Amino acid sequence: MNSKRRTNAISAPEDKVFTLNDLESWDFPGVALAVLGFPVKHSISPQMHNAALRKMAASDPRFSEWRYFKFEIPPEKLSQALPLFHEKNFRGLNLTIPHKIMAVDLVSETDPAAAATGALNTLLWTPGGYKGFNTDGFGLARGIEISFGKKLKGADVVLLGAGGAARSAAVLAVQEGCRRLFLGNRTTEKLEPLRDDIRKLEGSTEFHLFGLGSPPSEWEEAPIVINATAAGLRESDPPPIALDGFPKETVVYDMIYNPKEPALIREAQKHGFRTANGLTMLVYQGVRALEIWSESSVPGNVMQKAAESASPN
Ligand code: NAP
Repeated sequence: MNSKRRTNAISAPEDKVFTLNDLESWDFPGVALAVLGFPVKHSISPQMHNAALRKMAASDPRFSEWRYFKFEIPPEKLSQALPLFHEKNFRGLNLTIPHKIMAVDLVSETDPAAAATGALNTLLWTPGGYKGFNTDGFGLARGIEISFGKKLKGADVVLLGAGGAARSAAVLAVQEGCRRLFLGNRTTEKLEPLRDDIRKLEGSTEFHLFGLGSPPSEWEEAPIVINATAAGLRESDPPPIALDGFPKETVVYDMIYNPKEPALIREAQKHGFRTANGLTMLVYQGVRALEIWSESSVPGNVMQKAAESASPN
């Protein structure tokens, strides 16, 4: 029985979705990593990480025993699942929807930089339990830098959304020292509490709040627009804001990567603005997570290529 399961885990295809039942009888002999989500079927993290690990194994044979899996864990089972992942020696875990916020109360320790975001996407095994990190901000900053050659420091940033992804981005923007942060959301009541939380961070950023129907219009320099709303996930969605009146050097980063050209990117293209979707953010949050687990440098270009070939058209 055991040897059959062992063979199954080793030779399982990358799109196989494991469950809590599989975890209970887990006996993979190598170093296991995994993403936990609900649903998780769509995740391309196994393809990205296993491609990087194969490349890393060519120069360091330790990594030939490392393998990244995906597990579907319902939210009400996360508190039961994490101690079991720890007992089974999973060295690293990524968390995706809907686990990022609830994990904050389930880890033994939190990286100080992650604490301000109130959400965790990366866990590292330590003898006393899992230590929590948030690498989404790193991924976003690298994504913007790679796509546009721009940093958030000193920039005007228009951030759309007030959920978990927007909060991580707002923390990053203040920590990186953006000059002005324009926070916009469909439900405007969520903006003041978000701003009040973020304002507790050290920094000299100036805050402006707006409803999506009346975006800011007075510019001294072209802003970086970041979409952290779910508007655009469906092909039929309208863009979360209209970009009329934005300066011609405006750049637009949409965290959505499936579809590849969500509504805000199409709106930006109409105005001739430079655009990028969220695939680079996904890749570089993964690069940073694998650096934390492996304490080695990670080939971002290999992960990027794997993500491009695994992500749907
Ligand atoms: P979340 O916590 O559920 O927040 C959703 C946000 O989207 C809220 O601000 C919500 O506004 C807004 N929204 C939903 N439907 C809308 C619509 N039709 N029009 C305008 N606003 C709408 O979700 P999240 O975790 O922050 O994720 C937000 C987005 O970021 C998702 O598209 C997700 O795929 C993406 N993301 C990408 C990456 C990456 O690696 N590339 C990482 C994380 C997240 P209300 O407050 O008014 O409801």
